Amino acid sequence: AEFTPLNLNDLLRDTVTLLEHQFKTAQIRVETNFDPHLARIHGNQGKLQQVILNLMLNAKDAMFGTANATLKIATFNGAGRVVVRIQDSGNGIEKEHLHRIYDPFFTTKTKPQEGEHKGTGLGLAVSYGIMQEHAGKIHVESEIGVGTAFQLEFPTSAARP
Ligand code: ADP
Ligand code: MG
Repeated sequence: AEFTPLNLNDLLRDTVTLLEHQFKTAQIRVETNFDPHLARIHGNQGKLQQVILNLMLNAKDAMFGTANATLKIATFNGAGRVVVRIQDSGNGIEKEHLHRIYDPFFTTKTKPQEGEHKGTGLGLAVSYGIMQEHAGKIHVESEIGVGTAFQLEFPTSAARP
């Protein structure tokens, strides 16, 4: 089946494990705060892993070369929804870029330095589409020099029609 019941804590844990070596090399500390009673959602595991992977890799890029780089990952239950928060201590997003980050091909990663890669600008555009397929939401809060937090919201299994 394309959509199956999923525990997002497991998916997040697996994705952190996948990137563990990269985070270590980049001297990024990962802090997780998973709600042990997190409700299940219905979703496409492969596509949701793509979303999570892209958010984590964007966070890593944003923290490149910064001191005390920290990636915070949290999950919690809301009213009829499951929330995932992925927060970095990176360089932040310029105010005038905020409304463009979900546009296909919008990227600021045009001049890769050592340890960075050139961006395609497709990650968030694809992620946005995947969240729509899940009747979910994605939104962002960002402050220059402080960091960025992306939040994913899904309807819980029980709340689905
Ligand atoms: P790409 O990573 O290939 O550039 P994305 O669609 O994933 O494309 O992201 C688009 C742009 O949004 C990035 O180039 C960057 O400018 C900005 N961005 C996304 N996530 C973050 C983040 N966590 N911190 C700072 N900027 C970000
Ligand atoms: Mg990206």
